[in-house]
Amino acid sequence: MGRLPLAIPPLLFLAAIPLQPLGARPAAEADVEARLRGHIETLAADAMEGRKPGTPGGDLAAGYIASQFAGLGLVPGGGDGGFYQPVKLVERRSGTIAADWRIAGTVVSIAPTEMALRGGDGAVRTAALPIVFGGYGVEDARAGLHPFEGVDVKGAAVLILSGQPEGVAHAPGYAARREALLKAGAAAVLRIETDEQGWPQLRDTLNEPRNELADDAPAPITGALSPAAWQRIAEAAGLSALTPADMVKRDFRARRIDGTAAFSIDNVSRPYTSWNIVGRLPGNDPAAGALLYLAHWDHLGLCRPEGVPDRICNGTVDNASGVAMMLEVARGLIQSGKRPVRDIWFVATTAEEMGLLGAHALAKAPPVDAAKIAAVLNFDTVAIAPRGAPVAMLGRGQPALDAAVDAVSRRMGRRINPSDAANALAQRQDGWAFAQQGIPAAMVGGSLNMDLLQAYLGQEYHKPGDDLSQPLPLDGVAQDVELHVALGLMLADPKRYRPPPR
Ligand SMILES: [Zn+2]
Repeated sequence: MGRLPLAIPPLLFLAAIPLQPLGARPAAEADVEARLRGHIETLAADAMEGRKPGTPGGDLAAGYIASQFAGLGLVPGGGDGGFYQPVKLVERRSGTIAADWRIAGTVVSIAPTEMALRGGDGAVRTAALPIVFGGYGVEDARAGLHPFEGVDVKGAAVLILSGQPEGVAHAPGYAARREALLKAGAAAVLRIETDEQGWPQLRDTLNEPRNELADDAPAPITGALSPAAWQRIAEAAGLSALTPADMVKRDFRARRIDGTAAFSIDNVSRPYTSWNIVGRLPGNDPAAGALLYLAHWDHLGLCRPEGVPDRICNGTVDNASGVAMMLEVARGLIQSGKRPVRDIWFVATTAEEMGLLGAHALAKAPPVDAAKIAAVLNFDTVAIAPRGAPVAMLGRGQPALDAAVDAVSRRMGRRINPSDAANALAQRQDGWAFAQQGIPAAMVGGSLNMDLLQAYLGQEYHKPGDDLSQPLPLDGVAQDVELHVALGLMLADPKRYRPPPR
């Protein structure tokens, strides 16, 4: 299995993370480390084929976690008396697509290869929609840009350029611009590509299947136009003379194009079921609420085409390591001899890589009344920090949680990294499904250090190289397991941690 070279030389790595003074490591920690390695070697083995939901490898991973929960003596919480909470998913992809563009009284023909269209369910046939051209579509008060001021996009097909406008600092990315337009009621948002060479690859990417929760409303209509397709539309609409510089002027406004567009998409759908694995450690007083631990078990599956030597995205760090950590935190809490006051739930979630789908399904149908959840702690991508890394947080800025984390860290002799830089990744992890509802949620540990996270994201992240051949600093994870056993007992005690009223 090919491993890419490290981005940063090891010496720099050591310099970035000052280590604690050398000292004897407790024997118990070495045991934890060995068990972590065992879980990770099982979950990231080639036999699990990258743990994609809806595949035999994914089912094997879910089965392993359920058997571990059973072995630990957790109470099944998945419904029907077992550990499995079904998560109904649907894979949708665009089959035949077509569009009918009528601009200034003439038909502009755009071939299916010159556009990408996706969204909706089954056979989608839109009405003839009004068309709005929005330039870059960047609304930015600081730059004085308000292209949509006084322009109604409701029910319209909105076309915007995909790139970043030159000379506008901090412009939101294309995805954020698209979401804002959909929120404002656009019936469809299409990006205009300007890079002719990159077009085939972009089109193929947009035509890849998407996965959604079966019970959710299907995604709205989005897509893209090739540079050549846009050129013909712009010519017919009399927009050819507009330059990129015109579109970042303060007085630039989006404009209705004289014409309509009607879209048709035949979606090919495949419904299937995956599972969250749910277990409970009973507290002395379940009426006092609950603490919830999360770690996603899924990964990307076979992520390279047939014939490539290594096709498997094993997801060793992302997130076999987080699941292993959750299993050992559960064991540590059980073996601590101290019974928590609040119930503690452990959920290995599915379909995180498809857009936090398992966590969203869990948040919609939580095993315990959402109003009773005192805190949610998520483990994702944990095996990147060595022993002694300062304790950092994603979710810092929630005073009651911050205070608990800092108090426990100090008691364990750990240094604290008070930065809130990791909050930038808040929406990219499962805890977001709960944080969105105002439930205190965080990630805590040595791995929330942004330098370490960025180094990993720039290297093996989402590649076949995130496999068992890379060095895994499991001593750091073992130390964080110990931290979380203490933190879990504190957060599960209403006398020591009270979530803010909501
Ligand atoms: Zn991932």
